[in-house]
Amino acid sequence: MRVVRTIADLRPLLRSLKEAGKRIGFVPTMGFLHEGHGALIRQSAARCDATVVSIFVNPTQFGPGEDLVNYPRDLERDQNLCLEADASVLFLPEVSEVYPTGFQTHIEPGPLAEPLCGRFRPGHFRGVATVVAKFFNIVQPDLAFFGQKDFQQTVVIRRMARDLNLPVEIMVVPTVRESDGLALSSRNAHLGEAGRRRALCLSAGLMAAKAAFDQGQRDAARLLEIARVPLSGVDSLQYLELVDAHHLEPIQGAVDRTAALCVAAYVGSTRLIDNVVLAPSAVEGLNVSLSPQSA
Ligand code: AMP
Repeated sequence: MRVVRTIADLRPLLRSLKEAGKRIGFVPTMGFLHEGHGALIRQSAARCDATVVSIFVNPTQFGPGEDLVNYPRDLERDQNLCLEADASVLFLPEVSEVYPTGFQTHIEPGPLAEPLCGRFRPGHFRGVATVVAKFFNIVQPDLAFFGQKDFQQTVVIRRMARDLNLPVEIMVVPTVRESDGLALSSRNAHLGEAGRRRALCLSAGLMAAKAAFDQGQRDAARLLEIARVPLSGVDSLQYLELVDAHHLEPIQGAVDRTAALCVAAYVGSTRLIDNVVLAPSAVEGLNVSLSPQSA
């Protein structure tokens, strides 16, 4: 595995891979890697000839007062995980490499960036879309892998790739969870033992609604009520919404198309998100895992 820190060093490496006809996979991350990231890297390694992983804590997607400075870091562990998951290149740019002096051009996502997290993190998806577009241009991957864990992010990025004719296939990998249901997240590192127990309320709420859905419950309001019961254990519920999986509009009445039940909540000062996809037909459900998305 090659470790590179500058675009100038990365470009010739990628050019030689491309010239050799290699299919390049890309996994953008903010580091403090866990098995969720591992799953993305492994999927990329299985489907591509070479996998580029980036670790970059992108300042432009954090709002004032968010956890940019406290974002956990452990480069040595990250390097080992990348190696074990079969990454070919680890790209570790500095902030000044990605945003040199004078930088002023951004990607402005449309209405898909407004609901859910967008409502509570103004500018977040603008920052995400901009840095992902930059990395797509730097790496020029054939496939790029994102986790379902950040559901709205996958929808915004897929829309951006289509809208801007970016020649990359967006792949979505199912959320990796602990055996008790907790979605793996770098931010779980901030939870103490008691916090971790309260964090389980997120997946418990989602799984309760999913179980009811699987048993035939289709009423959106009822499904939200079912999810809300375990969620009473979090310190503050930011949102719980059942939305159309493609357009992110709230579903009223019966769930008659693929939907995403999305939650954001605080456990102590740690903000956690999670989601579950509810698909009226199994075939449609597969559409949000590991396949190029069509909106
Ligand atoms: P992050 O480092 O949090 O920016 O995440 C980098 C990528 O890993 C994103 O595409 C995330 O959606 C994905 N990811 C994070 N946690 C998980 C998880 N538990 N399962 C699957 N993918 C994940």
